[in-house]
Amino acid sequence: MYAALLFAALCFFKTTYACIYKYGTSLDSLAAPNGGTPWDHGLHGDDWIGVDATGKPWACMSGIRQSPINLPNANILDNRGSRIPRKFRTQWSYPTIYSNGSNVEVINTGHTIQVEWLSPYAADVEIVVPARQDRNTQITAVLSMNENDQATTVQATPLQFHFHTVSEHLIGGEYHPLELHIVHRVTDLPACTAGCFSVTGVLFELTQSEDNPFLEAIWAAMPMREGAINYLPPDAQIRLEELLPPPSSREYVTYEGSLTTPPCSEGLLWHVMLKPQKISMAQWTKYKTAVGFKECSLKNATATATPSAKSGSRQPRHHHSRHLAAAAPGNPDDYTCNVVAYGTNFRTPQRLFGRAVKLAS
Ligand SMILES: [Zn+2]
Repeated sequence: MYAALLFAALCFFKTTYACIYKYGTSLDSLAAPNGGTPWDHGLHGDDWIGVDATGKPWACMSGIRQSPINLPNANILDNRGSRIPRKFRTQWSYPTIYSNGSNVEVINTGHTIQVEWLSPYAADVEIVVPARQDRNTQITAVLSMNENDQATTVQATPLQFHFHTVSEHLIGGEYHPLELHIVHRVTDLPACTAGCFSVTGVLFELTQSEDNPFLEAIWAAMPMREGAINYLPPDAQIRLEELLPPPSSREYVTYEGSLTTPPCSEGLLWHVMLKPQKISMAQWTKYKTAVGFKECSLKNATATATPSAKSGSRQPRHHHSRHLAAAAPGNPDDYTCNVVAYGTNFRTPQRLFGRAVKLAS
C-alpha cells in the first residue's frame, strides 16, 4: 500500500516522467553504473547537474568537449580540407553474435534499449594512434595526425550497444529518427590503462517498406517495460556488421566528445557513419513505445513484500527474462502499465568550442 501511494505521488508530482523512470538504473552511464544523482531525458540533458556514485560532479554542464554535436555535411568538411588521411582510418570488424539463450541480453534500462553479451565477443576495431606514445598520448590522437606521421593501431573492444530516438547527432542541422551507439573500451595505451572509450554512431532513416532484418532479433526481444531484461532466444543472432554501412561506403565523421548521458565524461573518440541505415515505421513505433511513458498501477499490494532475491543476479528467473536490481522500491512485475505517450531519449546538441571535426572517406 505504501509503495502504491509513493508511486502515485511520484507520478502526480513529476507528471509522467517519474512513471517511466521509476525503475531506471543508469547502465548507460559507464563511469557510474549504479548510484549517483538520478536523471532522465525529460529536458534532453539541459538539467543534468549531479554527481556520480563516488560524489564526483558530472561534466555535463561544465564540459567544453561534450556530445552530441551538429556535424557539418561531408562536402563542407571536404572543402575545408578537414580530413583524416586515408591510411589512418578506423577499421571495423564485427563477427556475428550468436545466442545460446542465456548469453545475449536486451535490456530496457529506462534510459535506452541496450544489448549486452555475457560471453567473449571477438570483435576487432582498430584505431590509429602515433607509433611513439607517452603518458599523454590520447585515444583521440588521430584527429591531429599528419600524413607523414608514424602510426600504429590499438584495439577497441565493444562493450554494449544501445539506441536513441531521435538521433543525437545532427548532420547539416538535420535529425534522423534513430541512432545506434556501439560503445568500445581501449586499454592498450599508456593513458588508457583504466579504460578509454570510443563510440561508433549509426543513423537510421525511415523506410515505407519492410522491417530492417538486422534489427529483427533485437526488436523481437525488446522489453517494453523499464527494468526488464530479455535474453535473446537460442539460435538467434545479431549481425552487427550489417548495421553499419558496407565497407565500400563506410564514410564517417570523427571528433573528440563525451558520453551523451551522465556523467558525460570527456575524452571519447567519436565516429558517426554518414550513410544512414533503414528502419521501418513499425520498428520505430515499437522503440518509441519501449522508451515511452507508462501509467502503472500496482497489481497486488502484497507482492511488494516478496523478497527480491533475484535482484542483481545474472541468472534468469523465468525462461528468458530477468530484471534489473530496481533502484526504486518495488518490482516491475508488480505493476500493470499502460503506454500514455511515446518516448524520446536524446540529448540536446552541444557547443563545438572550436573542436576539430574530420571526415574519413
Ligand atoms: Zn548513446
